Amino acid sequence: MPSAALDRAESLIRTIADYPEPGILFRDITPLLADAAALRAVIEALIEPFSGQFDVVAGIEARGFLLAGAVATVAEVGLVPIRKAGKLPRPAASVSFTLEYAQATIEAHDDIEPGTRVLLVDDVLATGGTLVAAHELFEVLDGHVIGTAVLMELTTLGGRERVGDVHAVFTA
Ligand code: AMP
Repeated sequence: MPSAALDRAESLIRTIADYPEPGILFRDITPLLADAAALRAVIEALIEPFSGQFDVVAGIEARGFLLAGAVATVAEVGLVPIRKAGKLPRPAASVSFTLEYAQATIEAHDDIEPGTRVLLVDDVLATGGTLVAAHELFEVLDGHVIGTAVLMELTTLGGRERVGDVHAVFTA
């Protein structure tokens, strides 16, 4: 992937101060999503270390869905949505955790075969609570998480220490 394309993609991530709460620097990826070349560049960069190694991509609601849908199409694999509590008609697994700015529960259906190789995808790694919970979800579902990929890692929040090995396309 030419670094110019990724540099441009990174420049399209907008930082909004004090959203959704005072003190939070919110990383808004919508300008990046709106740019075809930038979107393509980051999707390829998310997949690159894991190419051919996963059977499904799991995207975390809500912005993780946007990335996971594109990853699934480019990598030619299926997609498992990880949703917030109460959104799935028949959740098979449910894990609660603490976010940078809220409490949350995530849920998933059990539509994968045991041992299915899963790539976890989300937009931002902050404290790591979401991705740790997503790992736990796939333990319940007997999936095999082969990797974790995020668009942006917020390095000062210590998420990597909690989640373990994470592929971050950008860091801040
Ligand atoms: P965490 O569980 O603390 O790693 O938080 C990651 C989740 O919360 C991701 O799904 C992000 O979409 C969202 N998130 C947390 N902090 C931010 C932030 N500063 N900017 C954008 N999204 C964030």
